[in-house]
Amino acid sequence: MYGRFKDHMETQLRQIRERGLYKKERVLETPQGVEIRTESGAKVLNFCANNYLGFCNDPRVMAAANYAFFRWGFGLASVRFICGTQKVHRELESRLAEFLGMDDAILYSSAFDANGGVFEPLLDETCAIVSDELNHASIIDGVRLAKAKRFVYRNNRMDDLEDQLVQAREAKFKLIATDGVFSMDGTIAQVDKICDLADRYEALVLVDDSHATGFIGPTGRGTHEHCGVMDRVDLIVTTFGKALGGASGGCVAGRREIIEFLRQRSRPYLFSNSLSPAITGATVEVLKILGESAELRERLMSNTRLFRDGIERAGFRIVPGIHPIVPVLFGHLPDDARLSQDFANALLDEGIYVIGFSYPVVPVGKSRIRVQISAAHMPDQIAFALDKFRLVGRKLGAI
Ligand SMILES: *Cc1c(COP(=O)(O)O)cnc(C)c1O
Repeated sequence: MYGRFKDHMETQLRQIRERGLYKKERVLETPQGVEIRTESGAKVLNFCANNYLGFCNDPRVMAAANYAFFRWGFGLASVRFICGTQKVHRELESRLAEFLGMDDAILYSSAFDANGGVFEPLLDETCAIVSDELNHASIIDGVRLAKAKRFVYRNNRMDDLEDQLVQAREAKFKLIATDGVFSMDGTIAQVDKICDLADRYEALVLVDDSHATGFIGPTGRGTHEHCGVMDRVDLIVTTFGKALGGASGGCVAGRREIIEFLRQRSRPYLFSNSLSPAITGATVEVLKILGESAELRERLMSNTRLFRDGIERAGFRIVPGIHPIVPVLFGHLPDDARLSQDFANALLDEGIYVIGFSYPVVPVGKSRIRVQISAAHMPDQIAFALDKFRLVGRKLGAI
């Protein structure tokens, strides 16, 4: 039978290519970090990783992974409730709960899985989920798995959130779900105002802080700390695949009874293997480091200010804010979709690795290069990147 399906696949692939949406993967010859080398041999500075705190190849984190690997073995070959729970898993859960200011936490293989497993058991057809339109794909999929009624509000718009809560008023239980940081813009959700509306309309609040845990807020706890509502958010989803080391894994942290119930009913937790001990032990180490010193977080924030100030002074438009995601905008220029791609390619030739995003990843006329700053960047590397942005900007008529 495969012949006919093969034709179907080939047609689909051709259409993806023709629309310019085909994703090519650049193969790295080095560990992840600030200086990387691609298969083509070019050494470049990386400005597009989620390696916010530089933990991807931090020797302390690698040593902790190595220790846990030999202390606890390669893998568990079991889900948690059969024979897949080690002391190191419980230690990570209690450290995550403490770091995030929650009662308890439950581990998943990824934040994608955490979102896939958190909504369905908690909210049945008598309930409602009210979700920001720009929420991550894994929230969208997780919400789809739940039988609850769905309401979507315009990005970060509190008036529309309120309208949706009014429409959902018949529901037995309501939950508001939002990304803490919207990844294409680097903007921070108004978690304080969301909590106010949640109080007024009796809703639970879930924040996915994958782009915030470890570095946003006065002590890096996340957007709930940044917005001054650490005790008012019911559930936090986050990833270990970004600032917390970049390997993989995720969790839901929250109210005691909810986490206990998720251990009984959450399908990706019940029916998927335990997190590998090496990742688990390394993530414990990351949380220890973050608890002992503010150095990396402060370096990340000062690097971010350096880049944001410099790029604006050079005449580029950016989305204002404080987040190390810095979108450099091209929407006001002619042929912005092509320009953002050409710009990213020209920067790569100059030794700066960034990615251009255009429609349909972002709306029409909102093409951009998304720069991501890391604590591991040296100030002179940021200055070098700014020089190259100016150079390419003049060459392509963007400034
Ligand atoms: C990256 C991201 C995820 C997925 O995290 P993984 O652990 O890689 O699955 C989920 N939610 C948000 C908001 C993210 O930014």
